[in-house]
Amino acid sequence: MIYILTGGPATGKGTRSDILANALEIPHISTGDMLRNVAKKNLEIREKLSNGELISDEIITDLLEQRILENDCKEGFVLDGYPRTLKQAELLDVLLAKYGRAVTKVMELTIPDELAFKRILGRSKCTHCGASYGIDFPPKRKGRCDICGGHLAVRTDDTAETLSKRIETYRENSKPILDYYRDKGILMTVDASAHPERVVEEAQMEI
Ligand code: AMP
Repeated sequence: MIYILTGGPATGKGTRSDILANALEIPHISTGDMLRNVAKKNLEIREKLSNGELISDEIITDLLEQRILENDCKEGFVLDGYPRTLKQAELLDVLLAKYGRAVTKVMELTIPDELAFKRILGRSKCTHCGASYGIDFPPKRKGRCDICGGHLAVRTDDTAETLSKRIETYRENSKPILDYYRDKGILMTVDASAHPERVVEEAQMEI
C-alpha cells in the first residue's frame, strides 16, 4: 500500500495523509516536514525553504530512501510532498522497484486558488508541541496553543508572495507528473474543498 497525495499548497495534503495513514496503520511521510527538520541544522536548505525553492532531486530522494527503509514502512506508507518533478516520479519508481515495490495509487487534491490563500494566510503551529491551527480550527486564545499554552508561529514560507510562487511552481511541475501517473492508470482527482475523512473511502475506490 503506497499512496501518494499530491496537490498545490493548502489543498490539505497533510490532513488527508494523516487520516489515511491512521486508518491504514501505516506512516505518513511528508518531505516538507523532513526538510524542515534538516533545515534546523543546514543553512542552505533553510534559505531555499524560506524562498519557496525546491530542494535538489538527489538530496530529497536520498532522504526518502533512508526513511522508507525503516521498519514502520514495511506494510506501506502515505507520501505527501513528493514527487514534485517528473524526475522525482521516475526516481521514485526506480527506488521502489529496487525493493520490489510500486506505487498503489496517486490522489490529486484540487481546491480554488482563493481558498488556498485563505487557508495559508490563516495557519500557524505551536513551537512547543507542534499542534496545528487554521481558519477552520483557530486557537481559543490568539497566538497561544490550546493544548500546552505554547507560542504559535507561522511558517516563514507562508506569505502571499511565496504562496503565489509555490502555486505557480506546482502548476508548472505537476502537469507532466500527473500525465505520467494517468498513463499508468493509477491517478485519481479529488475535490479537496471539504470532508477530509472521505480520503479513506476514495483511496479504496476503483479508478
Ligand atoms: P511542503 O510542506 O510540502 O509545502 O514543502 C515545503 C517546502 O519544502 C517546499 O516549498 C520545498 O522548498 C521543499 N520540498 C518539499 N518536498 C520537496 C520535494 N519533493 N522536492 C523538493 N523540495 C521539496
